[in-house]
Amino acid sequence: MYILLMGPPGAGKGTQAVQLVEKLGIPHISTGDMFRAAVKEGTELGKQAKACMDAGQLVPDAVTIGIVKERLTKADCKKGFILDGFPRTLDQANALDSTLKDLGISLTRVVNITVPAEDLISRITGRRICKNCGATYHVTFNPPAADSKCDKCSGELYQRADDSEATVANRLSVYAKQTEPLIEYYRTQGLYSEIDGRQEIGKVFTDIMNSLRGSAV
Ligand code: ADP
Ligand code: ADP
Ligand code: ZN
Repeated sequence: MYILLMGPPGAGKGTQAVQLVEKLGIPHISTGDMFRAAVKEGTELGKQAKACMDAGQLVPDAVTIGIVKERLTKADCKKGFILDGFPRTLDQANALDSTLKDLGISLTRVVNITVPAEDLISRITGRRICKNCGATYHVTFNPPAADSKCDKCSGELYQRADDSEATVANRLSVYAKQTEPLIEYYRTQGLYSEIDGRQEIGKVFTDIMNSLRGSAV
């Protein structure tokens, strides 16, 4: 299955992707995770991405498209993938189409997780991530069993630099302007499913699995 996970920042894409990976055994490709890894490593890509991310702006299309293209040609993508956070612009969507065409792949489904803006702000500012394994928590909605420690690996939890109230408004307006038009793009291709992301995590997952069930593999 070749799945696109769409949705505004904080909608629950990463949270759902982890469960989909477990269920479907296909790789999770998150451009946000790729950029954060590059920032951590201090590479040239990381330096370029960091300035955009901290400002709540998108990393330029040419850069983003380049890293996704390279990733999709790896052998583990042959049997499927969960693409999370890409495409975010129409140019990225067009580039993805042509890359997939070259690879002889067509998308199975585009799943958009929707959550109203007022809920997104509390989701993003309350998000905490394990330094060690990357697991995602929420201080109120999905807290770890022990305070500030990861349930899976006891790693320390941290808050992303761009998950501040100051940056969130910018990210939401970038999403509305640049990414929302993709809904129409995929709707006209008959690939689009919308999932109510306000529901509890397990119910969102069930709805996503049901939307995939109706799709050709
Ligand atoms: P995204 O990858 O779309 O930015 P995340 O999966 O990181 O979103 O989720 C954003 C925050 O909201 C996290 O702190 C996560 O624990 C929490 N969260 C995810 N799904 C739900 C849900 N269905 N209900 C409440 N909180 C959620
Ligand atoms: P969220 O799901 O909370 O929006 P991500 O981890 O997907 O966060 O993205 C974090 C940041 O990484 C974005 O605000 C943006 O700066 C950059 N980024 C991620 N994906 C893309 C993309 N497809 N195009 C451009 N920038 C991106
Ligand atoms: Zn952990």
